[in-house]
Amino acid sequence: MSVTNDIERVLVSEEEIDGRISELSNEISQDYVDAESLLIVSILRGAFIFTADLSRKLTVRHSVDFIALASYQKSTSSGEVRMISDLRQSIEGRHVLIVEDIVDSGMTLEYMSNLLRERKPLSVKTCVMVAKEGVDVNSSGIGVDYLGFVLPDVWVVGYGLDYDDQYRTLPYIAELKSRIYQ
Ligand code: 5GP
Ligand code: MG
Repeated sequence: MSVTNDIERVLVSEEEIDGRISELSNEISQDYVDAESLLIVSILRGAFIFTADLSRKLTVRHSVDFIALASYQKSTSSGEVRMISDLRQSIEGRHVLIVEDIVDSGMTLEYMSNLLRERKPLSVKTCVMVAKEGVDVNSSGIGVDYLGFVLPDVWVVGYGLDYDDQYRTLPYIAELKSRIYQ
């Protein structure tokens, strides 16, 4: 049976994602126009598609590296963040832009920001595709600098986001039927 049977409704279409990523990449390209060494730090696995599309639209010189984290078992927070694999390079003296799929409690982003700030980068900013409605993305712990979409507090999948490692390659962002994740 097709995975689309498990979708409740589409929240952000392919066209809307494309348009918003163009806006974000323009903004980021302007902000980093004078930066010598921008490093995009993409958080695997959820951010891989967002990162690929965003980074290809950036007009500033940059490189991309990946960090793999795990914090969730299916749809329930395990309450801790684990690093599965680290960056392959030093970030000392570089401008770092963390790219993350979604912010919910903010724990993952806070963990990442703290971890990378200890490594003496020139700056650390964050770009997040989705924030759940009600999350204060300006709080000191979270601090989202570039945000794609604010979506209702339901389990969302597609465009890199999974449930139990499925649905990542759907071209849109959608609400999963609650019977699947409850
Ligand atoms: P936080 O640490 O902010 O509570 O959660 C962030 C992480 O939880 C994200 O990186 C993502 O992996 C996962 N997450 C939270 N909400 C959702 C959701 O609605 N859908 C999916 N696919 N992942 C989510
Ligand atoms: Mg994630």
